[in-house]
Amino acid sequence: MLLDELDSVDWRSIPTPGLRMTRADRGRSEWRDLPSPRDGLFALAAAGSLPQVAAATSSLANSAVLWGHMGAVFPAAVVAAPFLLDIAERHDFAPARGAALTLLGDMMESLPIAGFDRTTAVDGRPTPLCCAVAVLVRQRREPVSELGRPGLSLIGNSDEHWRFEVREAVAAGNDTLALGVLGGRIPTPPPGGEIHRSGGTARLASVALEYPVDHETGEACLRLAGTSPSGPCAAGAVIHPARCGEVH
Ligand SMILES: [Zn+2]
Repeated sequence: MLLDELDSVDWRSIPTPGLRMTRADRGRSEWRDLPSPRDGLFALAAAGSLPQVAAATSSLANSAVLWGHMGAVFPAAVVAAPFLLDIAERHDFAPARGAALTLLGDMMESLPIAGFDRTTAVDGRPTPLCCAVAVLVRQRREPVSELGRPGLSLIGNSDEHWRFEVREAVAAGNDTLALGVLGGRIPTPPPGGEIHRSGGTARLASVALEYPVDHETGEACLRLAGTSPSGPCAAGAVIHPARCGEVH
């Protein structure tokens, strides 16, 4: 089980912001390190009663993965997500499975802190934290879908954090047609996008599906309005939703 590997994670090596908090006993604010999620993950994996699930959930929602009061997510969430997926798939106590799914949903819906808002864990490119968690969720689409409505809801949530890998780009009037592979789902009306290529990031005003997606392969063709294929929209680039670039 993946949880066996939990103790091999060096949580302190993951970039995490300190949090400025007021200590009631001293009456002044000071910087504090966020607690490691290690104990909370073990506690959720071992939880066999509702109070134990609640305590483990609270611990994780106030740790270096999530800070619930702020609605903030941190880079360690991307490392913790596979462990939560394991708990969601394998725990024999339904409330613990549900709590793991809820925490994964919170990771995709919370905003990161500026300067701690990207991870290179997916493919070496600076990926928004929410989108990196979504990639991990989609990699387990089948088992997570079998977890009933909460599982299907999480998959739906992950699909909103779409990701498109450009394989080929051609000019089409003032636009670019990009052929590549889509993970997740492009909504309508066409959203804005953020395109990453080695060496830079650029904003796209509108990212629209040109043809229906091939659901077997994920191959798709997108129309990137007002852009040139000689610019950032060339082969090798990756596009995410623009809204996923927001920070606290
Ligand atoms: Zn996202």
